[in-house]
Amino acid sequence: YYSLTLFPFLNFAHLSLNKYSHYYVYNLQMFRYLKTHYNLHSSPAGIRKKNANSVAAKLREMQSYFGLEVTGILDEETYELMQQPRCGVPDVGEYNFFPRKLKWSKNNLTYRIVNYTRDLTRAEVDRAFKKAFKVWSQVTPLNFTRIRSGTADIMISFGTKEHGDFYPFDGPSGLLAHAFPPGPNYGGDAHFDDDETWSTDSRGYNLFLVAAHEFGHSLGLEHSRDPGALMFPIYTYTGNTGFLLPDDDVQGIQALYGLSSFYPNPKHPKTPEKCDDNLSLDAITELRGEMVIFKDKFFWRLHPQMVEAELVLIKSFWPELPNKIDAAYENPMKDHVFIFRGKKFWALNAYDIVEGYPKKIYELGFPREMKTIDGAVHIKDTGKTLFFTGDKYWRYENQVMEKGYPRLIEEEFPGIGNRVDAVYQKNGIFSLSLLSLELVQIQNFQIVRVLKTNSIFLC
Ligand SMILES: [Zn+2]
Ligand SMILES: [Zn+2]
Repeated sequence: YYSLTLFPFLNFAHLSLNKYSHYYVYNLQMFRYLKTHYNLHSSPAGIRKKNANSVAAKLREMQSYFGLEVTGILDEETYELMQQPRCGVPDVGEYNFFPRKLKWSKNNLTYRIVNYTRDLTRAEVDRAFKKAFKVWSQVTPLNFTRIRSGTADIMISFGTKEHGDFYPFDGPSGLLAHAFPPGPNYGGDAHFDDDETWSTDSRGYNLFLVAAHEFGHSLGLEHSRDPGALMFPIYTYTGNTGFLLPDDDVQGIQALYGLSSFYPNPKHPKTPEKCDDNLSLDAITELRGEMVIFKDKFFWRLHPQMVEAELVLIKSFWPELPNKIDAAYENPMKDHVFIFRGKKFWALNAYDIVEGYPKKIYELGFPREMKTIDGAVHIKDTGKTLFFTGDKYWRYENQVMEKGYPRLIEEEFPGIGNRVDAVYQKNGIFSLSLLSLELVQIQNFQIVRVLKTNSIFLC
């Protein structure tokens, strides 16, 4: 399969096992996906160019939307993305339920919970929806009032398969929910697929998170291409500690309804930009031939054959990992990537966390009082691993810390001191990303280059 070599990270062995039967399923799913989210074959013919509605054109549109390599071919990575649970509203504004930008012409809106799921208690469902409306009312002049009878602006219901609006759900996973933009009748209404398992935590799908996203549609927002945004079409559980609406969504909703008069403007998380001159990094590692570059709750994947780095949420690949990490390195002999956060570390084998992890860093031989590791790198030629923390570094071999360590970073890497953010090694060149936003490259114990950190992305 052509793209197995191009994306070694995604090892879809099962696809080649039974190529033909899978290929059939593969195509059916692709057609369904492109029809639902990219309006394949169902938009009126008009001024659009001939062929613009072909499968390849729709695939290209989707690949471009998600920042994948735009090939127009159903490769493994595109297929993988189509498997992810998501919102049922189409991604392309032009093909949305309604073509114009829509918003409510009033700030006081009502909602009604028409029925309930059996997965949660009624009180839990009520709380999840109330909290989801608060996400939006906190940053705008909007107010939401619950009514218990009659017709509300936003009617909320649970349903399965065909549920009365000609946009059927699809059983467990796949489509989770959808909502209509502002307007009369169905306008603003939000429907949740009751074939999903709804939860108040990480199990199944978190009702609050999905509802907050759907109510964004109820208020007139379309999908965002920002993988950090609440309005990104794919579901990722990002943790239970104090949800804060991402900046991209704040900008979107305030463009429609204006600012809130009372909200004290907290720090809404911004998605990192790879070409930002002030970019600092958390950790860098290789993973099966790709560079994986961590920053906050995201990482970029940079493949040598790809021009554009792809930005994804850490939790969309490894839900058990924390939302921020300190250091990472790959041991290609074991096919493990080690991830460090505070006093804990994890071993990853592709998508899986190796059994027995997380472990504590003192189990590696570090002093018990050590709180964090700044950077780590594994040197293939010697099989040794270097750990950087503060102004010291440790060397580790054959599962023991070497004698004579820690040493001062200054001794082997003059000029670096205690400023290490992330470390990697490639083709015999050591690269240290520093707190001072510089990337220092060292070869044969000599500094050969000092670049800006964002030069990793060829900015
Ligand atoms: Zn959506
Ligand atoms: Zn519906």
